[in-house]
Amino acid sequence: MEQDLHVRDRVGVQDFVLLEDHTSESAFIENLQKRFNEGLIYTYIGPVLVSVNPYKNLPIYGSDYVEKYRNVNFYELPPHVFALTDTALRSLRGELINQCILISGESGAGKTEASKKVLQFIAATTRKKANLETVKDKLLQSNPVLEAFGNAKTNRNDNSSRFGKYMDVEFDFTGDPTGGHIINYLLEKSRVVFQAKGERNFHIFYQLLAGADDALLEKLSLKRDPSHYVYLKQGDSSKVSGVDDAEGFKTVREALKVMEIGDEEQQALYLLLSVIIHLGNIEFASGDGGRARITNPDLVSTIAKLLQCPEEKLVKALLNKTIEARDDVVVSPMARDEAVKARDALSKSVYERMFTWLVQRLNRSLQSSWEVKKKYVLGILDIYGFEIFQSNSFEQLCINYCNEKLQQLFIELTLKSEQDEYRREGIAWEPVTYFDNKIICDLIEEKHKGIISIMDEECLVPGEANDKTFLNKMDKLLSDHPHYLSHAKGDNKMKKTIEREEFRLLHYAGEVTYNVKGFLEKNNDLLYRDLKDAMISSSNLITKDVFTSSELSSKKRPDTAASQFKTSLARLVEILISKEPSYIRCIKPNDVKKSSMFETGIVTHQVKYLGLVENLRVRRAGFAYRRPYEAFLNRYKSLCPDTWPQPKGDPKSAVQTLVNHLKYGENDYRMGLTKIFIRLPKTLFETEDAFQRR
Ligand code: ADP
Ligand code: MG
Repeated sequence: MEQDLHVRDRVGVQDFVLLEDHTSESAFIENLQKRFNEGLIYTYIGPVLVSVNPYKNLPIYGSDYVEKYRNVNFYELPPHVFALTDTALRSLRGELINQCILISGESGAGKTEASKKVLQFIAATTRKKANLETVKDKLLQSNPVLEAFGNAKTNRNDNSSRFGKYMDVEFDFTGDPTGGHIINYLLEKSRVVFQAKGERNFHIFYQLLAGADDALLEKLSLKRDPSHYVYLKQGDSSKVSGVDDAEGFKTVREALKVMEIGDEEQQALYLLLSVIIHLGNIEFASGDGGRARITNPDLVSTIAKLLQCPEEKLVKALLNKTIEARDDVVVSPMARDEAVKARDALSKSVYERMFTWLVQRLNRSLQSSWEVKKKYVLGILDIYGFEIFQSNSFEQLCINYCNEKLQQLFIELTLKSEQDEYRREGIAWEPVTYFDNKIICDLIEEKHKGIISIMDEECLVPGEANDKTFLNKMDKLLSDHPHYLSHAKGDNKMKKTIEREEFRLLHYAGEVTYNVKGFLEKNNDLLYRDLKDAMISSSNLITKDVFTSSELSSKKRPDTAASQFKTSLARLVEILISKEPSYIRCIKPNDVKKSSMFETGIVTHQVKYLGLVENLRVRRAGFAYRRPYEAFLNRYKSLCPDTWPQPKGDPKSAVQTLVNHLKYGENDYRMGLTKIFIRLPKTLFETEDAFQRR
């Protein structure tokens, strides 16, 4: 295989820093394409791994490859996600430095698959010991559970993660995994009640219907065919080609078992899923005086039974809302549209809380079962990439804000670590200028002035504020901001005009036009207290855990959705910044999920907003290549009679002898403390060529 690997290694360049023309985007794309066409989906930019989704199974993840990449230096073998993971693991185990692997890219680019390969490599390369097997099993099996409840078929990806995920794998000082911890971000709960054409609700609903035995279905009062259920059929696409939902259900049940979620808890989960499914089928009509009326009351009594809560309470909560104003409590009946919205809010809330409950249960199970004195962690971040759709809403703003924050972190960590290394090694260098997107982060998150603050403030004005007033306020307060544009400020020469209900942000990755419709409602994320109250009276063991009466008595207004997200992102940045980062930048080659199809336009767009060419420029501005003296000698010592077969003296002076012999120019390289720094790839190229020809 070695032979094989080295031959294939020479398609294009395996590290972009070796590219002759390193400033042009087209040369960058061409190299990616050349390699992709040969089935080489991985390429480096220095330590950053660029991965192009092959949309077909490649024979490069078997145990032969695990062995191949294990404990081998990054540059000795063709680029691979295993090489990146191995490097991070060795740094963790050898130097006891906490690691994180940040995976980014747009939906369908291969982030989740990459994160699974990382876990697979970790599991495969740790010691075989009885107690470790359980830990590894749990780490791996948490995935099918989360994917069933958190992933869905979308038009971009048949298995699209609809939540962000950060997972710490914990190790003890010997380097054995002892457990893990998962943090979830912003589940796309609107999917529970609505799916676009061609899309599905979360996998678990279809898996339950297809995989449950007749007895279970009967217990849940469910029919097997999803087309009976409004919440499951709106996308008109209840089958995913090549996916067996019944089989999926089996896998989930097995995984739940491994995660120590027993029969009783599983039953509680299925009951709640069925409650949600039935809720979607409640029909409201407009009755006396415009009041909503339920036309299929039998269904409500079924739901009440499944929930184990008093039926009258549920009926009342579905039709009325209680609003507390100061000392007054006002109960008012809802109109039909209002009732539909309240019902949907309930379904979303139940699902979201159930998901959070599930993550907590997984975490309890992943907690190391033995006392670990000091833990070291390797974190894996698999989070939604930048989104620009035809129509962009609140969710896209949150997601794109998240990407702004991560981009900022990327800039800081890559530039900082670059500068740190030069300092550590005693090398002089010119700092590079780059676009600092802090200004956009501030525009969104700054206290009192940012978009989130303005939105939160509007959410506090009862009755008077709406999406329109929110937009007007932004137009007024942000009109001078260079990254904010609106109808009022719009300039007619722009490619696409901004409509009255829109605003546009100039993100680091491009312009995105947001429609304000629904912003305040989504940010407020209100569930009427009557419905909460009904849930509190349920004896389902999950609802009992996630709906509590303290929530009703609390006078404090819960944080808005955007504020909660902002807080959790700030925490994420804290977590990441304290670790040594590695990056996987995922790219999808086409929009139609096809193998062997490389669409230049689509790839170019992603390369742009992932900032890859800029990344390369930064990498190249200093020294494109660096190698520890020993590694450099090991590879090239045969090129000089004075270093072959056995170099004399210490590695640094032997390397000096070697490069003198190779006639490196004075400015071509620098000798650091432990590494040689080579300015231009050409120099290394020539050396490598000489090595290949020898
Ligand atoms: P993302 O998480 O970025 O949205 P996924 O990781 O779910 O994307 O990948 C989408 C699909 O692309 C997967 O379901 C799989 O079919 C395919 N895919 C992604 N990465 C690979 C890979 N390395 N090898 C083979 N297929 C892949
Ligand atoms: Mg994913």
